[in-house]
Amino acid sequence: MGRNARLFVVSGPSGVGKGTILRQVRKDRPELHLTVSATTRKPRPEDTDGVTYHFLSDAAFDQLVSEDAFLEWAHVHGHSYGTLKTEVDPYLAQGCSVVLEIDVQGAFAVREKRPEAVLVFVEPPSVEELERRLRARGTEDEQSIQLRLANARREMELSCKYDVRIVNDKLDEAVERMRALIDHYENEGGFDQDGHHQA
Ligand code: ADP
Ligand code: 5GP
Repeated sequence: MGRNARLFVVSGPSGVGKGTILRQVRKDRPELHLTVSATTRKPRPEDTDGVTYHFLSDAAFDQLVSEDAFLEWAHVHGHSYGTLKTEVDPYLAQGCSVVLEIDVQGAFAVREKRPEAVLVFVEPPSVEELERRLRARGTEDEQSIQLRLANARREMELSCKYDVRIVNDKLDEAVERMRALIDHYENEGGFDQDGHHQA
């Protein structure tokens, strides 16, 4: 089929729908690897260790940092989160594209190390709708919602630095755009003379 395995980074404010979109895309592309990050945040009732995240103590996380086990890591919403190299490289080597759902700091760190990575930013139709979705999800207390909304404003200011932006207004359309861009970069994505992605 001429597909090249590619590294995709998906960012966007908490509650915008990144996880929902990626789970839908993966239904037709089961070989697409969605990385499982390591984190020091406490599991929520819906979390499963090793599936939603690798839940680690601060000491275990720091140990992995000292062993250079992370492709990137960052402090997000008051906790440490990181992408283990073992979640990325073996999959690319097998010819499977890999998707990292990480924050803006992590995305730019990945771009430094892997300039061929495709950075995708998912935007809400409005900040009001983002707040509605965060509340409707029902996973955060009020303090955590306020922290996530404050971070959202900061993150959205950086969206112009991403290769591609997707507005998640109608879910089906956002899923279709994500699917199409993954296909596009796998099939014919390349770089121009300045090292930027050609759309
Ligand atoms: P993220 O992974 O970006 O934090 P989620 O995927 O958990 O966000 O989505 C947050 C909430 O918004 C969920 O309850 C999800 O069902 C809902 N949601 C996602 N996309 C849409 C959409 N296009 N319209 C309305 N609600 C949505
Ligand atoms: P949550 O705790 O709500 O699942 O995720 C909080 C935030 O952490 C999200 O913005 C998510 O993108 C970010 N995040 C999750 N995993 C990683 C990671 O491995 N690295 C970085 N830099 N951010 C991450």
